Amino acid sequence: MGLGREYDVAVVGGGLLGSSLAWGLGRLGQRVVVLDEGDIAKRASRANFALVWVQTKGLGLPEYTSWTLRASETWEQLAATLETETGLDVCFRRPGGFHLALGDREMELRRDVLARLHNQPGAADYRTELLDHAGVRKMMPEIGPEVAGGSYCPYDGHVNSLRVFRALHTAFGHQGVDYRPDHAVTAISGNNGAFHLTTRHGEIVAGKVVLAAGNANAMLAPMVGLSAPMEPNRGQIVVTERAAPFLHFPMTTLRQSDEGTVMIGDSKEDEIDDRAHHMPIDVMMANRAVRMFPKLAALNVVRAWSGIRVMTRDGFPIYDQSESHPGAFVVCCHSGVTLAPNHAFDIAPMIASGVLDEAVVGAFSARRFARPSGERAA
Ligand SMILES: Cc1cc2nc3c(=O)[nH]c(=O)nc-3n(C[C@H](O)[C@H](O)[C@H](O)COP(=O)(O)OP(=O)(O)OC[C@H]3O[C@@H](n4cnc5c(N)ncnc54)[C@H](O)[C@@H]3O)c2cc1C
Repeated sequence: MGLGREYDVAVVGGGLLGSSLAWGLGRLGQRVVVLDEGDIAKRASRANFALVWVQTKGLGLPEYTSWTLRASETWEQLAATLETETGLDVCFRRPGGFHLALGDREMELRRDVLARLHNQPGAADYRTELLDHAGVRKMMPEIGPEVAGGSYCPYDGHVNSLRVFRALHTAFGHQGVDYRPDHAVTAISGNNGAFHLTTRHGEIVAGKVVLAAGNANAMLAPMVGLSAPMEPNRGQIVVTERAAPFLHFPMTTLRQSDEGTVMIGDSKEDEIDDRAHHMPIDVMMANRAVRMFPKLAALNVVRAWSGIRVMTRDGFPIYDQSESHPGAFVVCCHSGVTLAPNHAFDIAPMIASGVLDEAVVGAFSARRFARPSGERAA
């Protein structure tokens, strides 16, 4: 048994998903080890836009509309619990959020997407309001003349996602969860209550194993009879200097952080090198942002970065359990900020019990990739 320790659960990956799950498992008294890579690993959890987002999520998989709505409704509880346990305010705010349309054509596209989303049988029963220019201006007086209108959803919000990440690590440290950086897992063997995970520092043995290694799940899942077809993509984000609060609602491509900076994002490129950064993309995003809020033209850009999204082949989450290796699970998704409460409060207890709920597997198992593919997620 290598390091001479035993765990109920080994979580592979210490990003937002692995951390939410480890904390959720630790709350249940499980003995947990988190095996992570080193400091320069690719991590979506350090590169995201920090929205807690509901509107337009679930086109092509109606169960996903309820799943994101549930996350939005439980985020307050997650934020409050983390603050009690760590003293860290993760700055969750849910004033509702906008998607703005520049010009009539974009407004038409938005109308169409929303109609298709909400007309799906089984979609969650909430509405996203469509507002014209005057309607948006009533709520955000600083919009520019080119804004034709936008959609507003009261369930949208945002958070300080780096602080969430830190709070989860701090909180699971208090629970006695064993976090091991520089422990990339290269092989997994065993079954039935004794999984052996190989790392460069020796072997770890645990009763269950949860694969939460982001895009690396594609490589790890077949080791325990699972699959996780991934199609990562890249996003760039631009950040301005701090300004007095003036953006009171988060938007799909713009938000003002609790610290006053304005984040402008986030592009989608097929390239998956996170060291590359393309200025023309930043320029295009900044131009659109200035057309939405002309006041932004006066702010200096202080930072920009690229991040690789954890993206399944159809854009929806994978929550699955192995038939050939009972006790092995795979968990991966885009929107790991939004879905953090579901991972901590819903998925972790299912893993502790040894079985995922039928409704979760029915909607989100990777077995769907064996069926003809549906539409991509928004
Ligand atoms: C530009 C951008 C914008 C985004 N905006 C939002 C947003 O507004 N709202 C939202 O909800 N989500 C957003 N996301 C998505 C969100 O950040 C991700 O869903 C979330 O961070 C995924 O977390 P993760 O833990 O699955 O993956 P990661 O953060 O990638 O973590 C995976 C971890 O696994 C480790 N690992 C990999 N291989 C191994 C191995 N073999 N052994 C051990 N460890 C391993 C890695 O080192 C890493 O620490 C955005 C992402 C990007 C890139």
